[in-house]
Amino acid sequence: MVKQTIQIFARVKPTVRKQQQGIYSIDEDEKLTPSLEIILPRDLADGFVNNKRESYKFKFQRIFDQDAKQEAIFENIAKPVAESVLAGYNGTIFAYGQTSSGKTFTITGGAERYSDRGIIPRTLSYIFEQLQKDSSKIYTTHISYLEIYNECGYDLLDPRHEASTLEDLPKVTVLEDPDQNIHLKNLSLHQATTEEEALNLLFLGDTNRMIAETPMNQASTRSHCIFTIHLSSKEPGSATVRRAKLHLVDLAGSERVAKTGVGGQLLTEAKYINLSLHYLEQVIVALSEKHRSHIPYRNSMMTSVLRDSLGGNCMTTMIATLSLEKRNIDESISTCRFAQRVALIRNEAVLNEEIDPRLMILRLQKEIQELKDELALVTGEQRTEALTEAELLQLEKLITSFLEDQDPESKLEVGADMRKIHHCFHYLKKLLTDKKIHGPSRAPFSEVKDQVNQGPSTEEEYKKLREILQQRDNEINILVNMLKKEKKKAQDALHSSSMDRGEPRRSQSSPFPPGNPEGLRTLPLSAPTQAQDSSVIQYRSSLLHRKTGVREEMSLGRQEAFEIFKRDHADSVTIEDNKQILKQRFSEAKSLGESINEARRKIGRLKEEITQRHVQQVALGISENTTVPSAPDPMEEKLRSQLEEEKTRYKTMFMRLKALKVEIEHLQLLMDKAKVKLQKEFDAWWAEEATSLQVNSPPVNLFNHVKPFPQTPESQHKRSQLLSNQSDVYTRKILPSPGPLLHSQEQSSTGTRLEDSIAKRPVSSVPLTGDSQTDSDILAFIKARQSILQRTGKCPFPQKVASETPRQAKGVAGPGAPTLLGKAPVPSPQEGGWPRCP
Ligand code: ADP
Ligand code: MG
Repeated sequence: MVKQTIQIFARVKPTVRKQQQGIYSIDEDEKLTPSLEIILPRDLADGFVNNKRESYKFKFQRIFDQDAKQEAIFENIAKPVAESVLAGYNGTIFAYGQTSSGKTFTITGGAERYSDRGIIPRTLSYIFEQLQKDSSKIYTTHISYLEIYNECGYDLLDPRHEASTLEDLPKVTVLEDPDQNIHLKNLSLHQATTEEEALNLLFLGDTNRMIAETPMNQASTRSHCIFTIHLSSKEPGSATVRRAKLHLVDLAGSERVAKTGVGGQLLTEAKYINLSLHYLEQVIVALSEKHRSHIPYRNSMMTSVLRDSLGGNCMTTMIATLSLEKRNIDESISTCRFAQRVALIRNEAVLNEEIDPRLMILRLQKEIQELKDELALVTGEQRTEALTEAELLQLEKLITSFLEDQDPESKLEVGADMRKIHHCFHYLKKLLTDKKIHGPSRAPFSEVKDQVNQGPSTEEEYKKLREILQQRDNEINILVNMLKKEKKKAQDALHSSSMDRGEPRRSQSSPFPPGNPEGLRTLPLSAPTQAQDSSVIQYRSSLLHRKTGVREEMSLGRQEAFEIFKRDHADSVTIEDNKQILKQRFSEAKSLGESINEARRKIGRLKEEITQRHVQQVALGISENTTVPSAPDPMEEKLRSQLEEEKTRYKTMFMRLKALKVEIEHLQLLMDKAKVKLQKEFDAWWAEEATSLQVNSPPVNLFNHVKPFPQTPESQHKRSQLLSNQSDVYTRKILPSPGPLLHSQEQSSTGTRLEDSIAKRPVSSVPLTGDSQTDSDILAFIKARQSILQRTGKCPFPQKVASETPRQAKGVAGPGAPTLLGKAPVPSPQEGGWPRCP
């Protein structure tokens, strides 16, 4: 048993502006427990709950400052937990912090770069690497991915995934057995035999989550996500199985205080946006207080699910993510306070060992056989399962005489053979039931016996029944064959459809061709897992197909609009970047594959040369009638050292290729995800456009229906969000409150007349769902609008407003201004401007 308090770490997210001076400092001098000091600026101190203090100090196991890399986070936080999971202990890592403080970035990773991958992909990589190294045990890995939103659990990996909203997902419920163990009903477990399969599952879950999210539920900030790796191991031949679970948890945003935003004052109105976090805190408080007997785990689903992780059988680690900017001071302090309480909780992790029932059965069967053999040895007769005909006849005679014997003391003696005893009981039971069926009239026993003794009528009935049975068997066989054929057909169709959709990148363009005998015989990279892989790939491709394949059914107008939307979308930069990187990696992998093959051939040649040389030397020795010279042959030595060199080169290239493969797979998944996101945003935007055309049936309203944005200091951010989400061109055109100027500018432009004329077309009278007429109207409208906006310099499509993106942090875009990821800066509201086309 390992007793340990929950380990707490802090990670400070890079700030948009250069580190704000004097907000916090990290004291690394206290080597063992470094501390983080948060200094309350004077102008904030007044409104703060504890206005006497101006600085707060918190101790952490370790504090990772803004420049900490994902690699360091994994090495220092996740790797030790993964190691204890490999040893058979349960582990949990959870990230806690306000929205946008970097929880998802830390747990899952960034959506753009391979180097940004977070704890989950790195841990998977590490675990599978270790499993491969350890051949002394047999390991099995399963993955589950649960989302908890509003006290409901959803299975993000449900194979029947057709959901488009969160509510469509199958609900997962918590069950508790009498031993107070928690079971999750409806949460699917998926076996993953390789890192690649596990990674596919992660991306699948994330994509499902993204698709199910709506602006209304804001699942990404208000839900908890629990990615679990279930690992079991056993030594070959042993019946003892070790099971361990690793929960990687991305909690909901912990913000709880309402900000007034006026004069920078903060209110500490303790109002949670997330009730289950409130219950989590209650559990933590209860656990950290000594002598508390009742811990309110059952109050919420999340605390029930994480029951073992909190004060139970688990090694738990918390990462407090902090966004240490002036406006977030109160939230940061509250996150740190929470962490200090968590650090008081003591867990007791034990090895989870159990006996495998299947192996137990095998063991018992073996024991039975041994006992049988022993019995046969003692009794001198080999017992079979069934009694012989003669034995049966003999028994029946015995029973008859026993029943007919009037002496109440009479006994039925059949010896110590359990088979005979059982047969007697069965026989008697049958007699009794038959008697019941044929009525209570007491027929003489001999009559009953006659009936039992398979009279001709029973005999016939048996025959009939047997025939029917045979018939049914035949029918079942036919049906099973039909089903098999159908299944095969469906699989073939699915396979060919995924091939059609360009999925065969693995087989055609992949540098790791599955059937390449040269490259793969010695490269156990993709081939060994083909069967398993292809199912996951098919699963994924069918999902992506479902989510993105809508385009195939798009009308021409919509397709064209999609193309423009895609081109102008901020993510297209990322997609393009990744495409380029992917191309580079592919060609690198390809040339590496060639070099590896070349190295292999060279190794083969060198080996041959060495053997030849050796044979020559021996032959020489024989012909000269001398023994083989004891001094080493310099030529052979040279060949051997060349061989060693070549082998090292081969190994290095092989490792690089392996790493490349993982990177390529990751990038492909990132791109798949980005494509789904793009499609989703396009659909939303398209629907919005269609509605706005419909709603504004009187053309005049087109320019009047939108309310101006409120001009509070906070509104700038909200407005950016609206911009990125809603993309209402009219909103943009007319909205800016400082807009009279803009309005008049636009009215004076040629575009207004044109746009006005489009607006005046009776579009509203046309039904808008999938109607090609409407589509072409919308297309015409889009085209016209494009040209107008290009002339007036406004961008017609929604652009991603990436506040606080890493690029901004690096100073690519102007401070505070929403960015088009380097495409074009967005002017501030003071400029009265909107996203401009490059
Ligand atoms: P949360 O999950 O806590 O709401 P996110 O992880 O989504 O926050 O982070 C918000 C934004 O900040 C994302 O765009 C993310 O890429 C970025 N980000 C967070 N932490 C870091 C970091 N350590 N380095 C670079 N970017 C980060
Ligand atoms: Mg998040």
